[in-house]
Amino acid sequence: MQQRFIGKYALVTGASAGIGEAIAVRLAQEGASVVINYSRNDSGAADTAEQVKRAHSEGGFNDARVLIHKADVSNEASVTAMFEAVLGAWGRLDVMINNAGIQKPAPSEESMTADFDRILGVNLRGCYLCSREAIKHFLSRPGGGAIVNNSSVHEIIPKPQYLFYSISKGGMENLTKTLALEYADRDIRVNAVGPGAIVTPINMSWINDPKAKAVVESHIPMGRAGESAEIAAVFAFLASDEASYITGQTLFACGGLTLFPEFRTTWSS
Ligand code: NAD
Repeated sequence: MQQRFIGKYALVTGASAGIGEAIAVRLAQEGASVVINYSRNDSGAADTAEQVKRAHSEGGFNDARVLIHKADVSNEASVTAMFEAVLGAWGRLDVMINNAGIQKPAPSEESMTADFDRILGVNLRGCYLCSREAIKHFLSRPGGGAIVNNSSVHEIIPKPQYLFYSISKGGMENLTKTLALEYADRDIRVNAVGPGAIVTPINMSWINDPKAKAVVESHIPMGRAGESAEIAAVFAFLASDEASYITGQTLFACGGLTLFPEFRTTWSS
């Protein structure tokens, strides 16, 4: 394991489960102090914190710290209070990971505006609010910072019956690029990761059902769903100084899903 985050401070939203949990642990394994944000799952957040502490002690990172902060990222007052608490406690943040995200299926003609507001609120507004607060802090002291957003292959691939999710991830692409361009000359990098189908609680509908999982995996060129740790590794790269010349990009980690798998066989000519 590399040690790219010794002395660095990171905030991971939605870190009580799934990919966010894996990112928090990966950054800790490389030496980072980590804030675990979450909205509801108290025991999941406590479990992530235990894993982070274990990673610190196994790595010998005696100065590294962990904080748990419950906050709904779609709520402006909650986000500003979270930054006040984190910066009050640590005085510094170097890495902002916007991972929190939700989805809900519905035929679009029956979809509800309340779900539009909720899904866009968490996935896009939350990303905007946390990015804004992180950038304010990055600009307030030398050294810049890195933001990495959790997008999706559905940033570019439409997802019927998940209209609001697709809109949120499409919006995230432009949020990532616009902030990247606006702050490129001030040592602030903004990138995104676009996962494919990953084994996490958001995919409960198929991960424990072998038949449904086989259907999902039949669509993936690499023939398998991804693991959270494989996605966390990409976040760690983009957040680290190894990616020092990369900004405004979405790095798809999806087993080939963005390669138009329907064209695997020759049928069009
Ligand atoms: P998950 O359901 O396991 O985790 C979601 C996390 O978001 C949880 O920790 C939850 O507490 C948090 N969260 C939800 N609402 C919140 C709010 N209002 N404020 C703060 N935190 C909140 O899902 P996951 O698969 O780990 O998803 C994480 C991210 O990865 C999401 O943005 C999702 O869109 C993206 N993603 C997942 C997949 C996949 O296949 N699992 C694929 C592409 C993208």
